Amino acid sequence: MKQFRYLQRTTPHEAMAALDATPNSAFLAGGTTLIDLMKLDVEQPSDVIDINPLPLDRIEALPGGGVRIGALARNSEVARHELIRTQYPVLAEALLSGASPQLRNMATVGGNIMQRTRCYYFRDVSFACNKRLPGSGCPALDGFNRIHAIFGTSENCIATNPSDMNVALTALDSMIRVSGRNGERTIPFEDFHLVPGESPQRETLLEKGDLITAVDIPASSFAANSLYLKVRDRASYEFALASVALAIEMSDGRIANARMAFGGVATKPWRARNVEQVLTGSEPSEDLFERAARAAVEGALPRRDNAFKVELLQRAVVKALRVLRQAGKMGVRA
Ligand SMILES: Cc1cc2nc3c(=O)[nH]c(=O)nc-3n(C[C@H](O)[C@H](O)[C@H](O)COP(=O)(O)OP(=O)(O)OC[C@H]3O[C@@H](n4cnc5c(N)ncnc54)[C@H](O)[C@@H]3O)c2cc1C
Ligand code: SF4
Repeated sequence: MKQFRYLQRTTPHEAMAALDATPNSAFLAGGTTLIDLMKLDVEQPSDVIDINPLPLDRIEALPGGGVRIGALARNSEVARHELIRTQYPVLAEALLSGASPQLRNMATVGGNIMQRTRCYYFRDVSFACNKRLPGSGCPALDGFNRIHAIFGTSENCIATNPSDMNVALTALDSMIRVSGRNGERTIPFEDFHLVPGESPQRETLLEKGDLITAVDIPASSFAANSLYLKVRDRASYEFALASVALAIEMSDGRIANARMAFGGVATKPWRARNVEQVLTGSEPSEDLFERAARAAVEGALPRRDNAFKVELLQRAVVKALRVLRQAGKMGVRA
């Protein structure tokens, strides 16, 4: 690990100023991504700015409905908060499906949003990697690419965004609150992460000096009828091969409103608007679920080792819809 300077800051303003002061600095929240990557020499910040003392850990109901989750709220606190468990089950389930209890006690919402890919080549500095070193190449394209993406890829990078939480927050139409040089702004969750295109090193819309302060989830008529389904190589302590965040509102026996997003299959949290369109206005049925599954994989670009994800994702979509119906959340219990 390269030597670095440790700084601690107690206000957002001081933290942003410290980050801005040196070209190669990083915020430290729970440290469960950053410290790992520093040990691997993938990240080598000269200054590490500990933001844990900042007053950004609250989870509070918003006056007009909805909820605001501070960037320093721990993943475990968010998952067990009553408002989240009862009104946004998809988020609680996504968080509880991730990592381990110990990691979730440390991991924060801001850090989870910003976590980096688990691509093996990215995490091993003996390999080339366009994300680590732009222009150096992408060994995953023709290498071992079983865990890699089938959506949102480019000839420069096919790495997945590994977060479970991000998938749920995308489905819930959340907004990310950011403080920066020019004041405060909000960014729709769906737009925040970038596909790799020509510049895989740029992963989000954050600018130098920006601090994520909170995530707002708006009130909705569908969030309480939701779930997260994650498929992985083992039952716990494992990243998604494919995952589905699903939320549904019913009216007169038909699906009035649907939200769906995927994880484990795309270079960013992947909103499945075409599937939402297939579902909206229809009565739940096996035939509808199969059509939704086919729509889910339109445009997929599998590579040598990850073609199984095309079938896996379709099965995950059907299963998520069946589970919600069997829970009595699509009218009559099937
Ligand atoms: C063994 C293991 C298994 C895991 N399994 C899963 C899993 O199954 N599913 C899953 O989703 N995740 C998983 N994770 C990842 C885990 O969820 C993340 O490491 C965690 O959420 C990161 O949060 P943190 O607070 O520790 O971030 P940190 O490591 O402190 O920071 C991560 C990055 O975010 C930046 N950052 C932090 N806070 C802010 C902020 N407020 N504003 C701007 N930038 C900020 C930091 O500078 C850094 O670049 C796993 C991790 C490990 C180690
Ligand atoms: S897929 Fe992306 S992260 Fe992985 S080696 Fe290629 S460029 Fe690097």
